[in-house]
Amino acid sequence: ATAGNGGDTEFLCQKVGETGNVYAFDVQEMAISHTRERLERANLSTRAKLIHDGHEKMQTYVKEEVKAITFNFGYLPGSDHKIATHPSSLAAIESALNLLKKGGIINLCIYSGGDTGYEEKEAILNYVKELDSKKWLVIVNAYYNRKNDPPLPVFIYRLK
Ligand code: SAH
Repeated sequence: ATAGNGGDTEFLCQKVGETGNVYAFDVQEMAISHTRERLERANLSTRAKLIHDGHEKMQTYVKEEVKAITFNFGYLPGSDHKIATHPSSLAAIESALNLLKKGGIINLCIYSGGDTGYEEKEAILNYVKELDSKKWLVIVNAYYNRKNDPPLPVFIYRLK
């Protein structure tokens, strides 16, 4: 959902195997080109579709159910810190829930405080707390011994 410099996209391209597909979204041209270069170096470009558009529109581009969706919110490292994910995050998570297969997983890496300059953590936590527990299993994790506002990893599993 947040291609950034392409680390997660490369990881997912490895995981899906030769016949698998990865869709990678980013609103910044620079992120898309960094991701493209990274996949080319790793010889994985054929497994990914790179989409220069917002992740809140993922249902416009993805017409099949998917097994996993990865969000790494915040800004692109080494780029303009003002182009961060907030406030598109909630709409994007809702779209992701709509696309997820039974048994699939969404992971969210949420930033707050520090130099992020924006607050999306609370809105996201309030949103996932209200998800129907019969259908969704939501796990909130913590980097427990890390200082200075560590990111918050959240997993959402689709149970049925
Ligand atoms: N903070 C992370 C990196 C996050 S990268 C770290 O420390 O590594 C987040 C990416 O999300 C950026 O490349 C940014 O351009 C992208 N982004 C922002 N809004 C978006 C949106 N609506 N849809 C898709 N990507 C978006």
